[in-house]
Amino acid sequence: MATLKLIAPLAGWCLPINEVPDPVFAQRMVGEGVAIDPTGSLVHAPCAGAVVLMSGAKHAVTIRTELGIDVLLHVGIDTVALHGKGFELLVAAGDLVQIEQPLLRFDLDFVARHAKSVVTPIVLTGAGFAGLSKVIANRSIDVGEMLMEVAINELTVAQAIVGEQLQQQRRFIVPFEHGLHARPAALVVTALKGINAAVKVSAHGRSGNAHSAVSLMSLGIQRGDEVVVQARGTEASAAITVLERLLQPAPTRSASRTTAMETQHSAPLAKRMTECQLTGVLGSPGLAMGVAASLLQAERLVNETGSGYHAESSALTRARAVVRQHLEALIASGGATQRGILTAHLELLDDPELLQLADVLLQRDKSAAFAWRGAVRDTAVKFRALGDALIAERAADLLDLEAQVLRVLDGEPPVAVNDLPERAIIIAEELLPSELLTLDLSRVSGICMAHGGPTSHVAIIATAKGIPALVAIGSEVTAITNGTPLLLDADNGLLHVDPSAAELSSAVRALDSRAAERAADKAAAKGPCITADGVGIKVFCNLGALNEVADAVTHGAEGCGLLRTELLFMDRTEPPDEAEQLREYQHIATALAGRPLVIRTLDVGGDKPIPYLRMPTEENPALGMRGLRMSLHEPALLRTQLRAILRVEPFGQCRILLPMVTELSDVRTVRALLEEIATELGRKELPQLGAMIETPASALLADQLSREVEFLSIGSNDLSQYTLAMDRGHAELASRLDALHPAVLRLIAQTTVAAKAARCRVSVCGGLASDPVAIPILIGLGVQEISAVPILIPRLKRLIRGLDTNACVALAAQALNATDAAAVRALSEQWQRNTLRQPPSADGARLGVKR
Ligand code: PEP
Ligand code: MG
Repeated sequence: MATLKLIAPLAGWCLPINEVPDPVFAQRMVGEGVAIDPTGSLVHAPCAGAVVLMSGAKHAVTIRTELGIDVLLHVGIDTVALHGKGFELLVAAGDLVQIEQPLLRFDLDFVARHAKSVVTPIVLTGAGFAGLSKVIANRSIDVGEMLMEVAINELTVAQAIVGEQLQQQRRFIVPFEHGLHARPAALVVTALKGINAAVKVSAHGRSGNAHSAVSLMSLGIQRGDEVVVQARGTEASAAITVLERLLQPAPTRSASRTTAMETQHSAPLAKRMTECQLTGVLGSPGLAMGVAASLLQAERLVNETGSGYHAESSALTRARAVVRQHLEALIASGGATQRGILTAHLELLDDPELLQLADVLLQRDKSAAFAWRGAVRDTAVKFRALGDALIAERAADLLDLEAQVLRVLDGEPPVAVNDLPERAIIIAEELLPSELLTLDLSRVSGICMAHGGPTSHVAIIATAKGIPALVAIGSEVTAITNGTPLLLDADNGLLHVDPSAAELSSAVRALDSRAAERAADKAAAKGPCITADGVGIKVFCNLGALNEVADAVTHGAEGCGLLRTELLFMDRTEPPDEAEQLREYQHIATALAGRPLVIRTLDVGGDKPIPYLRMPTEENPALGMRGLRMSLHEPALLRTQLRAILRVEPFGQCRILLPMVTELSDVRTVRALLEEIATELGRKELPQLGAMIETPASALLADQLSREVEFLSIGSNDLSQYTLAMDRGHAELASRLDALHPAVLRLIAQTTVAAKAARCRVSVCGGLASDPVAIPILIGLGVQEISAVPILIPRLKRLIRGLDTNACVALAAQALNATDAAAVRALSEQWQRNTLRQPPSADGARLGVKR
């Protein structure tokens, strides 16, 4: 068997890979190898080969040998966070280097002080090697000394030495939805296993080895790209035949070769690759790599019989009081999203029906724990049976309360304290909101739940905190044992259990480059957002409360395009008075330091009920007393809110936005009221007034509306719900409720055309404004302002700065003629790949309609 000798690239102390202070390396998720705790600061090539660099990163270099073996040198742990500071690359991507040639220099002192560790793993990340031998460990080493020997597969060697004569060449179109990413690349490698041929795949002017998943992935091949496959060797035609089963022949070829027999052949292959992969529903976007940390808890044992009604009933009251105190403390310290959820918990804790049910059991001499559990479960079953997805998801809140009260009855704190490993990917039947909020989130990389829906509270919290989450995976997920390596690709709805080295090394690269990309985006986020052809686009943020402002400003928000004031009105027994509202709005305006603040008047009703308002019971609340309709039904409430807004200083910073407008009279009524209030307050002017376009009616009447308001703001969440007749809270329709549907886009187009004629500004504040795939289309349709989820603003600004508005106009015209949302997505994704230098990564795309 051939061997590759690797020399020490750095002087220092050699240690075994399992002693690296990072589980990803220590558990060999990236690959086999060794590590050096450096005393020197110049990294040399451990062998000859070509340099492969991660985009934007300076702390890691891969040397690809001519046999296709990849050797990754990763200086330090978590050094990606230094964004290249302290590192100087001495080579460029693609350079051919000799053994011991200097590759990069780093400031040892700086890195030691600023990174988690300077320990430098040297690992083999690709396929093609059979094992390591003579690995040096637990002693000091100098540059150039032998570090280890790599045994190379016979096949890899054979592929390198087969005859030079070209045996077979074919062109194919890549059919995989996300291009040649980890899974399809692994499929190609697996399909070619055992076939004696050297197979080269070329695209975009670069070539890769088809026997190496890493090599294939690094070509950046996307769906629809044409690739040239060249196979040499005694079984070259067998290799081509195998690839024909996986890839689509390019149009110049006959496409009639897929036979039933070939389908039979490819089926077992596909099965093998999915055996260690589970699928679920996107709860919170992103990619995460880590180890399983199961929060599954054994059912608590509960004594059925108690020690008398009075003793048990007061035990239950005391336990609820402890839980109440705990929730109140969390509410006092948490953000707006968290506050809303916990306040709902508080209400459930004291819910009279729940307590009555428990009391019936207590009176039958049951224990406090038995009675509480019985009452909660009975109610949870009823919630689930209602057939309403949103209410069914609240059953999780009830079970959360059950667990908290039972723990206190057992003499424990309300919430279990979990010692999490670093980079924990939480596995739970259904993670409870309180459990999530009490975890050490700095250690949580991802969340996987057997149950739960995409609009569950846990999914909403995870999104706000930037933690990828997959829900509704099914009970198979609970079989994963603690410590199992996992790769969570939430954007694609996939959980890879015990992923292959190739998948992991590609994930390491993807995560590193996303982190580097995010940091660079954030550093550039403060500046104005001007397209490549000089058109200024305002990028604002959506806010729910004061404590979200500072973070939004650091993410480059140029103002707030949507303050959802309903959060101030929810989870309480009476509405906030004028003074309280003024205080809240004033604080937010002041924190925005002069940036515009668009305050939306109360948007309740539908899926946001308010108990203290006299709301009629409605069979179909989404089509009932919602938004402005409710405010006009309760004019005193609207008057108080408008007075508070008009009193914010400096006058003019606040603009007023009306939700759920359907006709001109809505706007006229509010303007008349505003004039009255302005006179009362001695104001000579009125603030800018805007109408939300979130019903088909308002889009169709945008010409009339735009003549009487200062701005329009498109609420794509509701606009798609009402245009497509799909409930925005419906878990099963969630994947089809896509605001990029051409019908929705046509309504947006109609709005922008009408607004332009009336010289009225148009903004988008629904989920579409946070979706990178949608941005060029929106700009092409004439949108000049977006209001997005704060954390995504830096990335959106980068995207916009690279756009040419004329090209966007052409793209938008095509999108309007597409037949469905999926076609629009594919069109825009392909367009971005073809026209942008840095097309957006999948991370955070498609936030859906609920944000
Ligand atoms: C919308 O409908 O797009 C919107 C922004 O309003 P909300 O999501 O608060 O209903
Ligand atoms: Mg809305």
